[in-house]
Amino acid sequence: MRCSHPPVTRPPASRARASGRLCAVALAVLLILGTSAAASADGAIVAVKSKPANAKVFVNGYFKGRTPVRVTVSSARAESAQYRFTLVLPGYEKWDMHVSLAAGDNKSIDAYLERLPSLLAGRIICIDPGHPSETSPGCTGPTGVTENHINWVIALKLKDVLLAQGADVVLAKNAENEKVTNRRRATIANEANAAVMIRLHCDAASRSGFSLYYPDRQGTKYGHTGPSGEVQAASRIAANALHKGMKSVLAGILPSRGVHGDSATYVGSRQGALTGSIFSQVPVVTIEMCVLTVASDERFISSAGGQQTMVKALVAALETYFRQR
Ligand SMILES: [Zn+2]
Repeated sequence: MRCSHPPVTRPPASRARASGRLCAVALAVLLILGTSAAASADGAIVAVKSKPANAKVFVNGYFKGRTPVRVTVSSARAESAQYRFTLVLPGYEKWDMHVSLAAGDNKSIDAYLERLPSLLAGRIICIDPGHPSETSPGCTGPTGVTENHINWVIALKLKDVLLAQGADVVLAKNAENEKVTNRRRATIANEANAAVMIRLHCDAASRSGFSLYYPDRQGTKYGHTGPSGEVQAASRIAANALHKGMKSVLAGILPSRGVHGDSATYVGSRQGALTGSIFSQVPVVTIEMCVLTVASDERFISSAGGQQTMVKALVAALETYFRQR
């Protein structure tokens, strides 16, 4: 942990007690600005800002609001005392500092929060935008939105976010209408030695929601039997972690239809597992992002806001997965 003693603008001599020991556990910028004589006799006021904003502010462990916020420390008395200010924002290092406060003080804190290294940095992630393949061009929503288009658009948006976080992204096809067999898609993930392959699809069913599928037993296709028990176990762990991450973002927006084995799918029930799973040598999860044949799901996934939410859910899913590894 680094500790910094940033510049302090000292208040007038009569209020010199206002400045105390300043120590940031995280690298931070702090400005204690001049105090105002107009503050009330009891308590102190501290205006807390942070970059980025929306960090939770705690004073001696008590939640006081989110930045930017004016915090009233009503317990401050004539004799100055130390108060611990803590700022918490997911994805950023915890910011911590002791501030000396006395009744009547009026200070401001401006904290710079340092980003934590991304859980996704350096990970090899294979995104497989489902369809068109040897089996199907994909489904279509009530107003004509095609699954193939949605899978492709979400894959590209997800790829951009993952690349920005330092991940190594491999796409299982190069153009929206490129036809790639499911066997070839698995081979692309295998050759990349992907930490996980996520196969993006939209379902055709009657009930709204997202669902995930992983190989729960071996299947046989083109004379090949797979995947291995190791890949099945790793895929099950991945599916559950991805589901947990997606739920954290989609709760109240899109219902979960659960995590299932490939054997619960039409193709999986006949050949043991989905073809893309049978040939996979890496953890593989098929994500049905929504049910495109349900009007509300089609509206959601074809809107810019819905797509942004879905990408956020998929990023949270991958973060949850890599946090567990
Ligand atoms: Zn599909």
